[in-house]
Formats: sequence, C-alpha cells, structure tokens
Amino acid sequence: MPEHVNSANSHSDLAKSVVRSSTPLNQRPVSPYTLNPIVEEDGFSWPSFGTRKRAEDTPEEHQGRIDRISKAVKTILEEIGEDVEREGLLDTPQRYAKAMLYFTTGYQTNIMDDVIKNAVFEEDHNEMVIVRDIEIYSLCEHHLVPFFGKVHIGYIPNKKVIGLSKLARLAEMYARRLQVQERLSKQIAMALQDILKPMGVAVVIEATHMCMVSRGIQKTGSSTVTSSMLGCFRAHRTREEFLTLLNRGR
Ligand SMILES: [Zn+2]
Repeated sequence: MPEHVNSANSHSDLAKSVVRSSTPLNQRPVSPYTLNPIVEEDGFSWPSFGTRKRAEDTPEEHQGRIDRISKAVKTILEEIGEDVEREGLLDTPQRYAKAMLYFTTGYQTNIMDDVIKNAVFEEDHNEMVIVRDIEIYSLCEHHLVPFFGKVHIGYIPNKKVIGLSKLARLAEMYARRLQVQERLSKQIAMALQDILKPMGVAVVIEATHMCMVSRGIQKTGSSTVTSSMLGCFRAHRTREEFLTLLNRGR
C-alpha cells in the first residue's frame, strides 16, 4: 500500500512510493474501494482517464492511435537491432498496434450494456453458485507480457442471480486490461458485489506469468494463486465450503 511507508525506508523508497501512487488504484479522486461504486454511472467501471477518452474515439482518432503505436513499435524493432524493412517485419508494427488495442479492449467495455445486459434475475436461491475454470488471458502491467490461467468465481445470491455465462464475460472484461493478478481478482469480486448485492463473493485466480517463467524466475509450470473474498466468504466455514467445492473431482 503506497500510503503505508515504513519509517525505515530510505528516501528513494519514499520517492518510489510517491510515483506508484499514480497506478489505476489511486489516480481517481476517491478510491473505488471506499466511496466510489466500482460500476460507475456510465457503465465503464473505473478505467483511467485516458482509456475513457479512447472509448469515445471517432474512427479517425482510432486510426491515429494505431499509427502512433505503430511508430513506437517500429522504434522498438530498430532499437533491438532488427531490420524493419525485411519482409517478415514490414507489417509487424501495424499488427502489433491492433493486437495491443485488442488485448486492452476491456477498457472500452461497458460493464452494464456490453457484459451484463439483461441477465440479472430475481430468484429465491440462496445456495452457493460456482463457475470454475474460466480461461483468462491478461497482460502484466509491469512487463507488458501475458499472464494467463483460470478464474473461479463463487457467490451466494441474495434474491438476485446472474446468467452464468456473464461471470466469464466479467472476468474477460477485467482481464483485457493492464493488470496485476491481485487487482484482477479484486475487481471481478467487487463488480459482482456491486451488481448483485449478494451475501458474498469469492474469486480465485490461478495464473502463469510469462514475465516470470520465461525469464527463469519461476519454474515452468508453476503458477500464482490469488483470491478475493467478500461478505460471507470472509467467514471461515463459507470459505472452506467454497474451496472444497472448487477442488471436488480434481
Ligand atoms: Zn510482470
């Protein structure tokens, strides 16, 4: 937490923590974890200012964006010592620009109109609902390389349920942004909490990070697990039940 600077930290650590306070978690006037609802009135669910602008791009502005990213990618290719004129690389900058915009489409997705639509139903069901093994592909915001894996979502309804496929769409939306795995878990849980007002929500993500496995920091095949538990899932018994159901039949 950037606010909690250990008194033993050096001055440079302090400076670092100041820079870090402008991550998406903190750049809003009010933290989304306190007063701001995670799903905002315009349905965009807390992107950054720049990505909000991107969602309103005209076709010309969109093309300008692709051109500028392409130019930057060309610079990268030149700087790694490649021949940007050789056949295989000629269209790479354009291709990469489009791919990058696709990998981050989650910034432009309207959570209510595009994801949830009319799939919230009144239902007198109050037992745990779990959807497991939702595949996600995301980008680590520290290295801009992929991390991918599986999301498991559980919730206990409070008179409202959501179409099951929507849980996967919700995970997909947040995954298609620059992320850290911890925040991804939290955002999925908080959005669901906000939309359904259930008794509780649990999100567990198991993922492999290319920035770790491909650089030899982590052994290939190992994965990182994060979780976010809200409401009744904070109680030991409910959490245990969720984890038991999650692992059943494996
Ligand atoms: Zn990374």
